[in-house]
Amino acid sequence: MTFVLTAGLLIGFFTHSLTTPPRISDDFTTLSLDDMRSEILSELDFAVELAEEAGIYECCVDPPCRICFVEEGSCDCIEKLANAEDICEECKDRLAGS
Ligand SMILES: [Zn+2]
Repeated sequence: MTFVLTAGLLIGFFTHSLTTPPRISDDFTTLSLDDMRSEILSELDFAVELAEEAGIYECCVDPPCRICFVEEGSCDCIEKLANAEDICEECKDRLAGS
């Protein structure tokens, strides 16, 4: 019985760790600045993805901008573009560059 429970937990654990992207490291503060940056960016992209799924992030570029998440927590560039309103610098740059 205990074995079945343990096996079940282990399988659950491995399935979970396979489907869940890595989260901020426990030793984040000891990382190099480069590693901190890449970890922050990957966490940021993950959060933006969730915001998109929640319907509060409708960006005009793909992959979506990051700056709106940092500054506002949401993005409505698509609507702003449609109304000829100002969009964020990141989107402006990327639209101009493409
Ligand atoms: Zn934006």
